[in-house]
Amino acid sequence: MRLSEVAWTDVRDADVDVAFVPVGSTEQHGPHAPLGTDTLNAVAVAESGADAYEGSGGESGADRGEVAVAPPIPVGVAEEHRAFDGTMWVSPETFRAYVRESAESLVSHGVDRVVFVNGHGGNVEALAEVARRFSRDPDHGGYGVAFTWFDAVGDHASDMGHAGPLETALLRATNPDLVREERVDEAGAGAADRWGEWVAGVNLAHDSDEFTDNGVVGDPREGDAERGEILLDRASDALAELAAAVAERGGK
Ligand SMILES: [Zn+2]
Repeated sequence: MRLSEVAWTDVRDADVDVAFVPVGSTEQHGPHAPLGTDTLNAVAVAESGADAYEGSGGESGADRGEVAVAPPIPVGVAEEHRAFDGTMWVSPETFRAYVRESAESLVSHGVDRVVFVNGHGGNVEALAEVARRFSRDPDHGGYGVAFTWFDAVGDHASDMGHAGPLETALLRATNPDLVREERVDEAGAGAADRWGEWVAGVNLAHDSDEFTDNGVVGDPREGDAERGEILLDRASDALAELAAAVAERGGK
């Protein structure tokens, strides 16, 4: 169920196993993809993962309940893209507090198992801490983990750039009208090969405009809708598997 579309009585009467909280970003994704890419992709994976969880029966799934898919958190830790117009961000402190308190509000209704479904690399560090603090809080019985969809797509994961093949493929599969196809050649031609400027295993670049002029890393021409469907399937299956483990995990 999508929390923003059901009534409170529906939630009261539902058997909710776990909540998915999509976490995105509003930031540049090259000339061809929307600023909301990370949010749109997180929502797509969360919804598809919820279907996969509820639909995958098997022995352990016989008495499976529902997933409550929360509305997405649309602004994250994205100051690294500050040079590009339209990008929005909050500090990691604000982000951590907001995301954690959002999840805690669900616990007060007994929805105490949470998976944060993330679509933005810049959120990863802060979200890991959110999940730990949320799970260790002695004031409630909540337990949560963070899941980042592009880390859960097997051998495709190594192609993750920025607004590159993976993100563009997933958009083409789930929100094709938002990809400016006439700009994809230009986006690919001007893209950087790699995220960051690395010396001795350390990234010297704090901001993305230090290594990409148009905001793109990786070639979006290598991410068609067919690839996007594969990515969506892999991420959804991984998320459903994770959700089952989180739902079964006992309280503190
Ligand atoms: Zn992105």
